[in-house]
Order: sequence, then C-alpha cells, then structure tokens
Amino acid sequence: MDEEVVTILSNYIRGRFVEHAGSEWMDVVEPATGVVFAKLPLSDSQDVGAAVEAAREAQPGWASLEIKERADWLDAIADSLEASFEEIAELESRDTGKPISLARNVDANRSVANFRFFAGLIREQESEAFEMDDATNYVVNKSVGVGALITPWNLPLYLLSWKVAPAIGMGNTVVCKPSELTPMTADLLMRVIDGVGLPAGVVNLVHGDGAGAGSPLVAHPEIDLISFTGGTSTGEKVAASAAPMFKKISLELGGKNSSIVFADCDMEKTVAGVVRSGFLNQGQVCLCGSRVLVESSVYDEFETKFVESVERMRIGDPSDDSTDLGALISKDHLQKVQGYVNLAIEEGGRVLTGGAPCLPSEFEGGNWMAPTVIAGLSPESRCSTEEIFGPVVTLHRFESEEEAVEIANGTRYGLAGSVWTSDIERGKRVSEAMETGMVWVNTWLHRDLRVPFGGVKDSGVGREGGKWSLGFFSEAMNICVKHD
Ligand code: NAD
Repeated sequence: MDEEVVTILSNYIRGRFVEHAGSEWMDVVEPATGVVFAKLPLSDSQDVGAAVEAAREAQPGWASLEIKERADWLDAIADSLEASFEEIAELESRDTGKPISLARNVDANRSVANFRFFAGLIREQESEAFEMDDATNYVVNKSVGVGALITPWNLPLYLLSWKVAPAIGMGNTVVCKPSELTPMTADLLMRVIDGVGLPAGVVNLVHGDGAGAGSPLVAHPEIDLISFTGGTSTGEKVAASAAPMFKKISLELGGKNSSIVFADCDMEKTVAGVVRSGFLNQGQVCLCGSRVLVESSVYDEFETKFVESVERMRIGDPSDDSTDLGALISKDHLQKVQGYVNLAIEEGGRVLTGGAPCLPSEFEGGNWMAPTVIAGLSPESRCSTEEIFGPVVTLHRFESEEEAVEIANGTRYGLAGSVWTSDIERGKRVSEAMETGMVWVNTWLHRDLRVPFGGVKDSGVGREGGKWSLGFFSEAMNICVKHD
C-alpha cells in the first residue's frame, strides 16, 4: 500500500482539527478491496471531555441566536455540502463498499437535503398558544443543551446530517461520534462546517470506537440529550448508561421487516419492489424487507420471478455506475452473514440462489457475498426472526390475511414493513395491524422528510423526522399568563 494515499483523520473540537490525547489508531479499510486508506484516532474519555466542554461553552451563545440566523447557517452548510456532492458520493462508496449510483442518489442527495429541509422547517415553525377564559398559555421551544449524536456505518452522512441539522437548528450544540468503520464523510462534514465558519464549539466530532469514545460520551454528565442510531444490543447499553441521569434519549435500532405479497398484487412491480427492498445497500438498511411473506396461491410464480430478478443484479466494482450490489462493510460482518446462511441450512432452509461469498476477480481482498434467497424455513426460525443485516432474504407462504399479520408481528423487532396488493383498503388495514413504526403500501423507502420515523418493540424508542425531530431536539416550555 502506498503510504501517500492514507488519510490521517483528526478530531474536530472548538472549531479546530486536533490530535487525540492518546496514541492509538485504527485502520480504515476499503470494504471492496481490503486496502487500508485512512487512519482513525482511537479517542478516549479525555478527548470526549474536551469536546463536551467546547460544546457546553458554545451553547448559550448559539441558543441566543434568532431562529432565522440558525436557519441561515443550515442553508450555508447545505450549499457547501452540495458543492462537494461528488466527493461525498465517492468517499461514501469507498468507505462503505456501496455502489456509487446509490451513494449519489441516496447518501449525497439526502445529506444536502437534510440541512436544507430543516432550515426551512425551523423558519416556518409557528408558536403555539392556548387561550383560557382568564389566561393565555404560550409554548416556548427551548434548546435542550449539549447533544451526543452517535451513528452507524450503513448510511454514514445521511444519518449524521439528519441529526446534526435539527439538533443545531433548535439551538443545541453537539458532539458527534460516527461509526469507526466509516468516518470519511463525517470528516468531510467537519471540513464543510469549518469552511463556512460556523461558530466554534457548535459542532464537535470525536472519532473512535464504541468502548473508547461512544461509551464515555453517553455517560458524560454534561450531555443532556442522546440521539443514537445503531444495533439493538448497543442501544440497550446506551439506554442503561443514560437512564440514571434522565437524559433525553432517542434510539433508532435494528429491524427485521416483512414484505407481505398478496395474490392480487401487480406481480411485475411487486417483484422489482421486493427485490429492491431486500437488497438495497447489500441488505444493509435497517428498513430492508428481509422476510418476504407470499400468499400461497401465487407463491410458486413469485419465487421463480424473484430468484430470476435477484440473479440479474450486477455485483462488482462499487465505482462503476452500472453496479447494483457492492461489498459488505467488513470481514467480521461477512462472517456473521455467512454464519446465518449456514444456520438457515441447519434449520431446514433451501438456498435458492447465492449462499456463499463471491469474489469479483479484481477485488480479492474485499468482503463479497452473493445475494441469497432462502426458502422452506419456519417463520419462527432464527434466520427469519433475527436481524442479519446483509444480502439474505427468506421466503415464506401464508394462507390468509390474518396469518400474514401474525407472521409479520412474530419478531422482537418493530421497525418497518411493506404490503403489496391492488386492494388499497386491505393494504391500509394490514398496515395498521402491523406492530411497526412505518409501513409502505406498493412501494418501499419512499421517504417524505416531514413524516415520523422510528420503531416500536426492540427497534427503538421515540420518533425523529420532520416536526418530531424538532420536538426531540427541544424542550417545550409552557408559560401561563393570567389576564388582568
Ligand atoms: P452498532 O450498534 O455496532 O454501532 C453504532 C454506533 O454506536 C457506532 O458509532 C459505534 O461506535 C457506537 N457504539 C458502539 N458501542 C457503543 C457504546 N457502548 N456506547 C456508545 N456508542 C457505542 O451498529 P452498527 O453495526 O454500526 O450499525 C448497524 C445497526 O444499526 C443495525 O442493527 C441496523 O439495523 C441499525 N440501524 C438502525 C437504523 C434506524 O433508523 N433504526 C438506521 C441505520 C442502522
């Protein structure tokens, strides 16, 4: 490896890029090739302490700005990010292994849109008042204080920008802790923030792993609010650490989402939609429909068409515009996904396609897995109920609407789902019976930034998105004024 191309990352604290206190580093590895292309500082509680202190000191001044001024800052960040659109897409594709087309259409687009959207939303916020016969109540949305924003590796800047924009828009200052596996676009965001001249200390960033940097950040007594997106087991630790200090907390966690296919669906559109839902970003989206429930009368037809469509996907060079599927995030994750395929076979499943690592010839050092479809498993099996978070979809039959709902609700998770039918009334009825935070009918991942986002059961606590984000990142205070 040519040393010249290795980027050395640093923390961003109080408006400066600074070295971490310790001396430990971690390699940032390109998932497609296994090549090390950056070094990440493994920060510790000392770095976390410095970042929280900077955020705390900057908070009163930042909160005292007019909403319009903060909205203008968000727009300035959006403009500057937009100017770096291609760089975002290239870094994200390289850092995560995802296809460049996806990094452009989803990651880069949404990261810019998040700042612009929340700038508009906070500008339009209306003050609420409640009249009584003898008094007027009015609601003031105050900032919460200092926020810890912790994000995973699957949609790095997309998710970080979705937290930073509403958090600072509502007058909080923040410390970001992006995933140690995908730090590159968080670094880019700090360069953008530095470039537009955002007041020092409003946004700080500490690189590092969960134990060294994430854990002391959530446990820090000066952190008032935590917005965490990641796995359910990490969420448990974050919640346990935050609870004794009554920190405001939002947890966006794992999912095991069902796509329910009824016999009256538009078969062609449904197969395309369910393939996209199962395999987008190599199945590494919390909302992916990884268990597909199909009405018995069309099961055989669906299975054949679904497998044909999966086999047509192009897997390979993430930087090629025509690639559909890239690499998995890490060797460990590839092993986990493979482990689940082996388990599915032990559990009595039949692998209809894929099932093994696949190595495009020029990417021998990378983490590649063929898109995999498994049939014949019980819907209660571990592979059908546990989050695999990879390119593995299980197919199941159902006989009635009631059975479909029962299977869909038969997991510990409750994040999302989709229903495919030409009977819209049934689509809505089945959606409402599902124990999830979101359901799509005849589509998937069709996102409007104004709508609530979040899960029930073990998929999370709280809602973000649109006005729900503004609510989470602020404290509503009521002032009751007695009339003369
Ligand atoms: P993860 O839980 O391993 O890590 C997420 C983040 O938490 C990382 O930044 C990590 O360093 C940090 N972390 C780890 N241990 C910590 C601790 N003890 N205290 C504080 N921070 C800690 O998750 P991941 O593997 O990066 O991401 C995949 C998971 O994220 C999947 O389960 C997926 O479903 C979930 N996810 C959920 C959503 C959603 O909106 N619900 C969105 C994307 C991903």
